[in-house]
Amino acid sequence: MPALLPEETQVLVVGAGPTGLAATISLICNGIDPSKLTIVDALEKGANTSRALAIHAATLEALDKYGCASKLIELGIKGSGWAFGDRTTTIFKGDFSCISPYTKFPFVLTLRANRLRNIPYRVVGMKNSTSGKGIDVTFESGEIVRAEYVIGADGSKSVVRQLSGINFADPDGEFDDNSPVDSSKITQMVIADVSLSLEDNRDALAAGASITASKDGIQTLSEAPETLPSDHDSSDSVGEIIYRVGFNVPQAQGDPPSHPSLDYIQSNMNHQAPFHMCSDSKTSSNPVRITKVHWSSRYRTHSSIADVFIKRVHGGTIFLVGDAAHIHSPVGGQGMNLGLRDATGLGRELAEHIRKQGRRGITRVGRGYHCFGNLRGGETSPWSRCYQAHENLAWNGGLYDAATMV
Ligand SMILES: Cc1cc2nc3c(=O)[nH]c(=O)nc-3n(C[C@H](O)[C@H](O)[C@H](O)COP(=O)(O)OP(=O)(O)OC[C@H]3O[C@@H](n4cnc5c(N)ncnc54)[C@H](O)[C@@H]3O)c2cc1C
Repeated sequence: MPALLPEETQVLVVGAGPTGLAATISLICNGIDPSKLTIVDALEKGANTSRALAIHAATLEALDKYGCASKLIELGIKGSGWAFGDRTTTIFKGDFSCISPYTKFPFVLTLRANRLRNIPYRVVGMKNSTSGKGIDVTFESGEIVRAEYVIGADGSKSVVRQLSGINFADPDGEFDDNSPVDSSKITQMVIADVSLSLEDNRDALAAGASITASKDGIQTLSEAPETLPSDHDSSDSVGEIIYRVGFNVPQAQGDPPSHPSLDYIQSNMNHQAPFHMCSDSKTSSNPVRITKVHWSSRYRTHSSIADVFIKRVHGGTIFLVGDAAHIHSPVGGQGMNLGLRDATGLGRELAEHIRKQGRRGITRVGRGYHCFGNLRGGETSPWSRCYQAHENLAWNGGLYDAATMV
Protein backbone atom coordinates (compact mmCIF):
# COMPACT_ATOMS: atom_id res chain seq x y z
CA MET A 1 0.00 0.00 0.00
CA PRO A 2 1.46 3.41 -0.89
CA ALA A 3 2.35 5.58 2.10
CA LEU A 4 -0.37 8.22 2.10
CA LEU A 5 -0.02 9.39 5.64
CA PRO A 6 1.99 12.56 6.22
CA GLU A 7 4.70 12.53 8.88
CA GLU A 8 3.15 15.58 10.43
CA THR A 9 -0.27 17.22 10.46
CA GLN A 10 -1.80 20.05 12.44
CA VAL A 11 -5.13 18.31 13.01
CA LEU A 12 -5.69 14.57 12.83
CA VAL A 13 -9.32 13.46 12.70
CA VAL A 14 -9.63 9.81 13.76
CA GLY A 15 -12.84 8.29 12.35
CA ALA A 16 -14.58 9.08 9.06
CA GLY A 17 -18.09 8.39 10.32
CA PRO A 18 -20.66 11.20 10.14
CA THR A 19 -19.05 13.11 13.02
CA GLY A 20 -15.46 12.95 11.75
CA LEU A 21 -16.50 14.01 8.27
CA ALA A 22 -18.57 16.91 9.64
CA ALA A 23 -15.66 18.07 11.84
CA THR A 24 -13.37 18.08 8.81
CA ILE A 25 -15.84 20.02 6.66
CA SER A 26 -16.40 22.50 9.46
CA LEU A 27 -12.65 23.10 9.95
CA ILE A 28 -12.14 23.66 6.22
CA CYS A 29 -15.19 25.94 5.92
CA ASN A 30 -13.87 27.91 8.90
CA GLY A 31 -10.66 28.62 7.07
CA ILE A 32 -8.26 25.80 8.01
CA ASP A 33 -5.95 24.89 5.15
CA PRO A 34 -6.94 21.34 4.04
CA SER A 35 -3.25 20.45 3.64
CA LYS A 36 -2.90 20.78 7.41
CA LEU A 37 -5.71 18.31 8.04
CA THR A 38 -5.67 14.51 7.92
CA ILE A 39 -8.70 12.26 8.33
CA VAL A 40 -8.33 8.50 8.77
CA ASP A 41 -10.61 5.54 9.35
CA ALA A 42 -9.97 1.95 10.35
CA LEU A 43 -12.42 0.62 7.79
CA GLU A 44 -11.56 0.12 4.14
CA LYS A 45 -15.08 0.64 2.90
CA GLY A 46 -18.48 1.67 4.11
CA ALA A 47 -19.66 -0.38 7.04
CA ASN A 48 -22.62 -2.48 6.01
CA THR A 49 -24.76 -1.17 8.78
CA SER A 50 -27.77 0.97 8.31
CA ARG A 51 -27.98 2.84 11.60
CA ALA A 52 -28.75 6.54 11.81
CA LEU A 53 -31.64 7.59 9.65
CA ALA A 54 -33.22 10.72 11.11
CA ILE A 55 -31.71 14.19 10.79
CA HIS A 56 -33.39 16.90 12.85
CA ALA A 57 -34.01 20.57 12.03
CA ALA A 58 -31.27 21.89 14.36
CA THR A 59 -28.70 19.64 12.66
CA LEU A 60 -29.79 20.76 9.18
CA GLU A 61 -29.39 24.35 10.34
CA ALA A 62 -25.86 23.61 11.61
CA LEU A 63 -24.96 21.90 8.31
CA ASP A 64 -26.64 24.61 6.25
CA LYS A 65 -23.94 27.06 7.39
CA TYR A 66 -21.49 24.93 5.39
CA GLY A 67 -23.76 24.55 2.37
CA CYS A 68 -24.45 20.86 3.05
CA ALA A 69 -28.14 20.89 3.99
CA SER A 70 -29.70 21.31 0.54
CA LYS A 71 -27.83 18.33 -0.95
CA LEU A 72 -28.87 16.13 1.97
CA ILE A 73 -32.48 17.25 1.63
CA GLU A 74 -32.34 16.38 -2.06
CA LEU A 75 -31.19 12.83 -1.21
CA GLY A 76 -33.50 12.17 1.73
CA ILE A 77 -37.19 11.98 2.57
CA LYS A 78 -38.93 14.76 4.48
CA GLY A 79 -40.99 13.32 7.33
CA SER A 80 -43.83 15.69 8.07
CA GLY A 81 -44.83 14.15 11.39
CA TRP A 82 -45.05 11.11 13.58
CA ALA A 83 -47.78 9.07 15.20
CA PHE A 84 -48.06 7.12 18.41
CA GLY A 85 -50.69 4.53 19.10
CA ASP A 86 -51.62 1.08 20.24
CA ARG A 87 -52.39 -1.80 17.91
CA THR A 88 -55.88 -0.58 17.09
CA THR A 89 -55.80 3.22 17.23
CA THR A 90 -53.57 6.23 16.66
CA ILE A 91 -53.55 8.04 20.00
CA PHE A 92 -51.37 11.00 19.15
CA LYS A 93 -50.17 12.59 15.93
CA GLY A 94 -47.36 15.12 15.84
CA ASP A 95 -47.07 17.55 12.93
CA PHE A 96 -43.70 19.21 12.42
CA SER A 97 -45.24 22.15 10.53
CA CYS A 98 -45.77 23.75 13.95
CA ILE A 99 -42.02 24.50 14.13
CA SER A 100 -42.02 26.40 10.82
CA PRO A 101 -41.97 29.85 12.52
CA TYR A 102 -38.64 28.85 14.09
CA THR A 103 -36.81 26.99 11.34
CA LYS A 104 -36.68 26.74 7.58
CA PHE A 105 -36.51 22.95 7.99
CA PRO A 106 -39.85 22.04 9.64
CA PHE A 107 -39.45 18.28 9.15
CA VAL A 108 -37.33 15.29 10.08
CA LEU A 109 -35.15 14.21 7.21
CA THR A 110 -34.52 10.50 6.78
CA LEU A 111 -31.28 9.69 5.05
CA ARG A 112 -28.78 6.86 5.28
CA ALA A 113 -25.42 7.72 6.75
CA ASN A 114 -23.04 5.54 4.78
CA ARG A 115 -19.32 5.95 4.89
CA LEU A 116 -16.87 6.78 2.15
CA ARG A 117 -14.50 4.21 0.76
CA ASN A 118 -10.98 4.90 1.91
CA ILE A 119 -7.66 3.37 2.78
CA PRO A 120 -7.83 1.74 6.18
CA TYR A 121 -5.70 3.32 8.89
CA ARG A 122 -6.37 2.12 12.43
CA VAL A 123 -5.00 4.16 15.31
CA VAL A 124 -3.42 1.94 17.94
CA GLY A 125 -1.20 4.22 20.04
CA MET A 126 -0.58 7.81 21.16
CA LYS A 127 2.39 9.22 23.08
CA ASN A 128 4.43 12.40 23.48
CA SER A 129 6.20 13.19 20.25
CA THR A 130 9.92 12.49 20.17
CA SER A 131 10.29 15.96 18.60
CA GLY A 132 9.12 17.46 21.88
CA LYS A 133 5.93 19.01 20.44
CA GLY A 134 2.64 17.34 19.56
CA ILE A 135 1.33 13.80 19.78
CA ASP A 136 2.90 10.85 18.00
CA VAL A 137 -0.07 8.82 16.79
CA THR A 138 0.79 5.24 15.86
CA PHE A 139 -1.15 3.22 13.29
CA GLU A 140 -1.60 -0.53 12.97
CA SER A 141 0.60 -0.35 9.87
CA GLY A 142 3.45 0.86 12.09
CA GLU A 143 3.37 4.37 10.61
CA ILE A 144 3.51 7.35 12.94
CA VAL A 145 1.93 10.76 12.38
CA ARG A 146 2.77 13.75 14.57
CA ALA A 147 -0.32 15.88 15.28
CA GLU A 148 -0.86 19.01 17.33
CA TYR A 149 -4.56 18.30 17.74
CA VAL A 150 -6.33 14.95 17.55
CA ILE A 151 -10.09 14.82 17.12
CA GLY A 152 -11.43 11.50 18.40
CA ALA A 153 -14.47 10.80 16.20
CA ASP A 154 -13.88 7.08 16.45
CA GLY A 155 -17.18 5.95 17.87
CA SER A 156 -18.34 4.55 21.19
CA LYS A 157 -15.29 2.30 21.71
CA SER A 158 -13.00 5.27 20.98
CA VAL A 159 -9.34 4.35 21.10
CA VAL A 160 -8.45 8.06 21.30
CA ARG A 161 -10.56 8.31 24.46
CA GLN A 162 -9.08 5.16 25.98
CA LEU A 163 -5.50 6.13 25.16
CA SER A 164 -6.14 9.53 26.77
CA GLY A 165 -7.33 7.94 30.00
CA ILE A 166 -10.80 9.52 29.87
CA ASN A 167 -13.53 7.79 31.84
CA PHE A 168 -16.72 6.89 29.93
CA ALA A 169 -19.66 5.94 32.12
CA ASP A 170 -23.39 6.33 32.61
CA PRO A 171 -23.91 9.68 34.42
CA ASP A 172 -26.86 8.23 36.34
CA GLY A 173 -25.00 5.09 37.31
CA GLU A 174 -26.00 1.60 36.40
CA PHE A 175 -29.61 0.70 37.02
CA ASP A 176 -30.56 -1.63 39.79
CA ASP A 177 -33.79 -3.29 40.83
CA ASN A 178 -34.92 -0.18 42.78
CA SER A 179 -34.36 2.17 39.88
CA PRO A 180 -37.49 4.05 38.75
CA VAL A 181 -36.61 3.14 35.19
CA ASP A 182 -35.83 -0.47 34.55
CA SER A 183 -33.76 -0.21 31.42
CA SER A 184 -33.17 -3.95 31.40
CA LYS A 185 -36.60 -4.32 29.82
CA ILE A 186 -35.72 -2.51 26.62
CA THR A 187 -32.10 -3.30 26.17
CA GLN A 188 -32.43 -5.73 23.30
CA MET A 189 -33.54 -4.21 20.05
CA VAL A 190 -33.86 -5.44 16.47
CA ILE A 191 -33.71 -3.12 13.49
CA ALA A 192 -34.31 -4.01 9.83
CA ASP A 193 -34.89 -2.49 6.42
CA VAL A 194 -37.66 -4.37 4.67
CA SER A 195 -40.01 -4.31 1.69
CA LEU A 196 -43.70 -4.61 2.48
CA SER A 197 -46.63 -5.76 0.36
CA LEU A 198 -48.29 -2.41 0.93
CA GLU A 199 -48.80 -1.67 -2.78
CA ASP A 200 -51.61 0.86 -3.03
CA ASN A 201 -52.20 0.85 0.67
CA ARG A 202 -49.39 3.19 1.72
CA ASP A 203 -51.86 5.42 3.55
CA ALA A 204 -51.87 2.67 6.16
CA LEU A 205 -48.60 4.19 7.32
CA ALA A 206 -48.43 7.49 9.16
CA ALA A 207 -46.51 10.20 7.27
CA GLY A 208 -43.09 10.06 8.90
CA ALA A 209 -42.65 7.54 11.67
CA SER A 210 -45.15 5.57 13.71
CA ILE A 211 -44.60 4.13 17.17
CA THR A 212 -46.88 1.39 18.43
CA ALA A 213 -47.12 0.34 22.07
CA SER A 214 -48.54 -3.03 22.97
CA LYS A 215 -48.29 -5.33 25.95
CA ASP A 216 -45.52 -7.13 24.08
CA GLY A 217 -43.41 -4.02 23.62
CA ILE A 218 -42.73 -1.13 21.30
CA GLN A 219 -42.52 -1.24 17.55
CA THR A 220 -41.51 1.54 15.18
CA LEU A 221 -42.07 1.81 11.46
CA SER A 222 -41.02 4.48 9.00
CA GLU A 223 -40.33 4.88 5.34
CA ALA A 224 -36.58 4.85 4.66
CA PRO A 225 -34.71 6.31 1.70
CA GLU A 226 -34.23 3.83 -1.10
CA THR A 227 -30.42 3.83 -1.10
CA LEU A 228 -29.18 0.83 0.81
CA PRO A 229 -25.93 0.44 2.73
CA SER A 230 -22.93 0.67 0.43
CA ASP A 231 -22.01 -3.05 0.59
CA HIS A 232 -25.51 -4.13 -0.29
CA ASP A 233 -26.30 -5.17 -3.85
CA SER A 234 -29.33 -3.01 -4.29
CA SER A 235 -29.73 -3.57 -8.04
CA ASP A 236 -32.87 -5.64 -7.48
CA SER A 237 -34.25 -3.05 -5.08
CA VAL A 238 -34.19 -0.02 -7.36
CA GLY A 239 -37.53 1.74 -7.29
CA GLU A 240 -38.73 -0.24 -4.28
CA ILE A 241 -39.94 1.52 -1.19
CA ILE A 242 -37.92 0.41 1.80
CA TYR A 243 -39.30 0.57 5.34
CA ARG A 244 -37.32 0.71 8.56
CA VAL A 245 -38.81 -1.47 11.29
CA GLY A 246 -37.52 -1.59 14.88
CA PHE A 247 -38.71 -3.44 17.97
CA ASN A 248 -37.60 -4.61 21.37
CA VAL A 249 -37.12 -8.27 22.20
CA PRO A 250 -38.08 -9.12 25.80
CA GLN A 251 -35.30 -10.85 27.77
CA ALA A 252 -37.56 -13.86 28.26
CA GLN A 253 -37.33 -14.56 24.53
CA GLY A 254 -33.55 -14.88 24.74
CA ASP A 255 -31.05 -13.09 22.53
CA PRO A 256 -32.28 -12.09 19.09
CA PRO A 257 -30.25 -13.55 16.21
CA SER A 258 -27.43 -11.32 14.94
CA HIS A 259 -29.15 -11.02 11.53
CA PRO A 260 -32.86 -11.57 12.18
CA SER A 261 -34.63 -13.42 9.36
CA LEU A 262 -37.82 -12.50 7.51
CA ASP A 263 -39.80 -15.03 9.57
CA TYR A 264 -38.42 -13.66 12.85
CA ILE A 265 -39.30 -10.08 11.91
CA GLN A 266 -42.71 -11.02 10.49
CA SER A 267 -43.56 -12.91 13.66
CA ASN A 268 -42.73 -9.81 15.67
CA MET A 269 -44.81 -7.56 13.39
CA ASN A 270 -47.75 -9.90 13.89
CA HIS A 271 -47.35 -9.58 17.67
CA GLN A 272 -46.57 -5.88 18.02
CA ALA A 273 -47.56 -3.90 14.91
CA PRO A 274 -50.97 -2.26 14.45
CA PHE A 275 -53.44 -5.01 13.52
CA HIS A 276 -53.94 -3.60 10.03
CA MET A 277 -50.18 -3.99 9.39
CA CYS A 278 -50.11 -7.73 10.18
CA SER A 279 -49.84 -10.62 7.71
CA ASP A 280 -52.54 -12.61 9.48
CA SER A 281 -55.88 -12.43 7.65
CA LYS A 282 -57.65 -13.04 10.98
CA THR A 283 -56.51 -9.65 12.26
CA SER A 284 -56.24 -7.69 9.02
CA SER A 285 -58.74 -7.56 6.17
CA ASN A 286 -55.90 -6.39 3.91
CA PRO A 287 -52.89 -8.34 5.25
CA VAL A 288 -49.47 -6.72 4.94
CA ARG A 289 -46.52 -9.08 4.52
CA ILE A 290 -42.80 -8.51 4.62
CA THR A 291 -41.67 -9.50 1.12
CA LYS A 292 -37.94 -9.02 1.61
CA VAL A 293 -35.42 -8.22 4.34
CA HIS A 294 -32.67 -6.04 2.86
CA TRP A 295 -30.66 -5.70 6.02
CA SER A 296 -31.21 -6.55 9.66
CA SER A 297 -29.32 -6.34 12.91
CA ARG A 298 -29.68 -6.37 16.67
CA TYR A 299 -28.19 -4.10 19.30
CA ARG A 300 -28.29 -3.25 22.98
CA THR A 301 -29.16 0.19 24.30
CA HIS A 302 -26.66 1.85 26.59
CA SER A 303 -25.92 5.37 27.93
CA SER A 304 -22.49 6.82 28.68
CA ILE A 305 -20.76 10.18 28.61
CA ALA A 306 -17.05 11.04 28.70
CA ASP A 307 -15.84 12.86 31.84
CA VAL A 308 -14.19 15.51 29.63
CA PHE A 309 -14.47 16.23 25.91
CA ILE A 310 -11.10 17.96 25.67
CA LYS A 311 -7.78 17.07 27.29
CA ARG A 312 -4.19 18.21 27.02
CA VAL A 313 -2.35 14.94 26.90
CA HIS A 314 0.70 13.31 25.29
CA GLY A 315 2.15 16.73 24.44
CA GLY A 316 -0.88 17.89 22.41
CA THR A 317 -4.64 18.32 22.73
CA ILE A 318 -7.35 15.77 22.05
CA PHE A 319 -11.05 16.44 21.50
CA LEU A 320 -13.87 13.92 21.63
CA VAL A 321 -16.91 14.27 19.38
CA GLY A 322 -19.96 12.18 18.56
CA ASP A 323 -20.31 8.66 19.94
CA ALA A 324 -16.74 8.84 21.26
CA ALA A 325 -18.02 11.52 23.67
CA HIS A 326 -21.56 10.35 24.44
CA ILE A 327 -23.92 7.53 23.62
CA HIS A 328 -27.51 6.89 24.62
CA SER A 329 -30.53 4.94 23.52
CA PRO A 330 -31.39 5.51 19.84
CA VAL A 331 -34.86 6.63 20.94
CA GLY A 332 -35.60 9.96 19.30
CA GLY A 333 -32.81 9.46 16.72
CA GLN A 334 -30.49 11.95 18.45
CA GLY A 335 -27.08 10.22 18.41
CA MET A 336 -25.77 11.22 15.02
CA ASN A 337 -27.55 14.56 15.25
CA LEU A 338 -25.68 15.48 18.44
CA GLY A 339 -22.45 14.25 16.88
CA LEU A 340 -22.88 16.42 13.80
CA ARG A 341 -23.62 19.45 15.95
CA ASP A 342 -20.59 18.69 18.20
CA ALA A 343 -18.48 18.52 15.07
CA THR A 344 -19.68 21.76 13.51
CA GLY A 345 -19.34 23.57 16.86
CA LEU A 346 -15.83 22.21 17.51
CA GLY A 347 -14.72 22.99 13.94
CA ARG A 348 -15.65 26.65 14.44
CA GLU A 349 -13.98 26.95 17.88
CA LEU A 350 -10.80 25.08 16.96
CA ALA A 351 -10.41 26.89 13.63
CA GLU A 352 -10.57 30.22 15.44
CA HIS A 353 -7.95 29.06 17.92
CA ILE A 354 -5.65 27.92 15.11
CA ARG A 355 -6.23 31.09 13.03
CA LYS A 356 -5.29 33.21 16.04
CA GLN A 357 -2.21 31.02 16.52
CA GLY A 358 -3.24 30.04 19.98
CA ARG A 359 -3.95 33.60 21.22
CA ARG A 360 -7.45 32.39 21.85
CA GLY A 361 -6.39 29.85 24.47
CA ILE A 362 -7.36 26.22 24.21
CA THR A 363 -9.06 26.57 27.60
CA ARG A 364 -11.54 28.99 26.03
CA VAL A 365 -12.06 26.67 23.08
CA GLY A 366 -12.57 23.89 25.55
CA ARG A 367 -14.89 25.91 27.75
CA GLY A 368 -17.16 26.73 24.83
CA TYR A 369 -17.11 23.26 23.42
CA HIS A 370 -16.99 21.26 26.65
CA CYS A 371 -19.87 23.10 28.36
CA PHE A 372 -21.96 23.03 25.25
CA GLY A 373 -21.20 19.43 24.36
CA ASN A 374 -21.51 18.08 27.88
CA LEU A 375 -24.75 19.91 28.41
CA ARG A 376 -26.30 18.55 25.25
CA GLY A 377 -25.00 15.03 25.72
CA GLY A 378 -25.92 15.08 29.40
CA GLU A 379 -29.40 16.36 28.72
CA THR A 380 -30.06 13.86 25.99
CA SER A 381 -29.07 10.83 28.01
CA PRO A 382 -31.72 11.24 30.75
CA TRP A 383 -34.20 12.48 28.16
CA SER A 384 -33.79 9.38 26.03
CA ARG A 385 -33.92 7.27 29.18
CA CYS A 386 -37.08 9.03 30.30
CA TYR A 387 -38.54 8.30 26.90
CA GLN A 388 -37.32 4.75 27.30
CA ALA A 389 -39.17 4.64 30.61
CA HIS A 390 -42.35 5.23 28.67
CA GLU A 391 -41.33 2.42 26.38
CA ASN A 392 -40.85 0.29 29.46
CA LEU A 393 -44.24 1.31 30.77
CA ALA A 394 -45.62 0.27 27.46
CA TRP A 395 -43.70 -2.94 27.64
CA ASN A 396 -45.12 -3.58 31.08
CA GLY A 397 -48.60 -3.00 29.75
CA GLY A 398 -49.10 0.33 31.57
CA LEU A 399 -49.27 2.49 28.52
CA TYR A 400 -51.06 -0.23 26.65
CA ASP A 401 -53.76 -0.24 29.34
CA ALA A 402 -53.90 3.54 29.34
CA ALA A 403 -54.17 3.55 25.58
CA THR A 404 -56.99 1.07 25.48
CA MET A 405 -58.90 3.16 28.01
CA VAL A 406 -58.72 6.34 25.89
C1 LIG B 1 -29.83 1.01 15.54
C2 LIG B 1 -29.38 2.43 15.62
C3 LIG B 1 -30.18 3.41 15.05
C4 LIG B 1 -29.77 4.74 15.11
N1 LIG B 1 -30.56 5.70 14.56
C5 LIG B 1 -30.18 7.00 14.65
C6 LIG B 1 -30.97 8.04 14.04
O1 LIG B 1 -32.02 7.81 13.42
N2 LIG B 1 -30.54 9.32 14.15
C7 LIG B 1 -29.38 9.63 14.83
O2 LIG B 1 -29.05 10.82 14.93
N3 LIG B 1 -28.59 8.66 15.36
C8 LIG B 1 -28.95 7.36 15.29
N4 LIG B 1 -28.15 6.39 15.81
C9 LIG B 1 -26.85 6.75 16.39
C10 LIG B 1 -25.81 6.97 15.28
O3 LIG B 1 -25.69 5.83 14.45
C11 LIG B 1 -24.48 7.30 15.90
O4 LIG B 1 -24.66 8.30 16.89
C12 LIG B 1 -23.52 7.84 14.84
O5 LIG B 1 -23.21 6.85 13.87
C13 LIG B 1 -22.23 8.28 15.51
O6 LIG B 1 -21.36 8.78 14.53
P1 LIG B 1 -19.83 8.89 14.85
O7 LIG B 1 -19.21 9.41 13.60
O8 LIG B 1 -19.61 9.64 16.12
O9 LIG B 1 -19.33 7.38 15.16
P2 LIG B 1 -19.38 6.12 14.21
O10 LIG B 1 -20.49 6.20 13.24
O11 LIG B 1 -19.30 4.94 15.11
O12 LIG B 1 -18.01 6.23 13.37
C14 LIG B 1 -16.75 6.03 13.99
C15 LIG B 1 -15.72 5.73 12.90
O13 LIG B 1 -14.43 5.63 13.52
C16 LIG B 1 -13.73 4.55 12.95
N5 LIG B 1 -12.76 4.04 13.92
C17 LIG B 1 -13.04 3.38 15.09
N6 LIG B 1 -11.90 3.09 15.72
C18 LIG B 1 -10.90 3.57 14.97
C19 LIG B 1 -9.47 3.57 15.10
N7 LIG B 1 -8.85 3.01 16.15
N8 LIG B 1 -8.72 4.16 14.12
C20 LIG B 1 -9.32 4.73 13.04
N9 LIG B 1 -10.66 4.75 12.87
C21 LIG B 1 -11.43 4.18 13.82
C22 LIG B 1 -14.80 3.52 12.60
O14 LIG B 1 -14.36 2.64 11.57
C23 LIG B 1 -15.98 4.40 12.19
O15 LIG B 1 -16.02 4.62 10.79
C24 LIG B 1 -28.54 5.06 15.76
C25 LIG B 1 -27.74 4.06 16.33
C26 LIG B 1 -28.17 2.75 16.26
C27 LIG B 1 -27.31 1.67 16.90
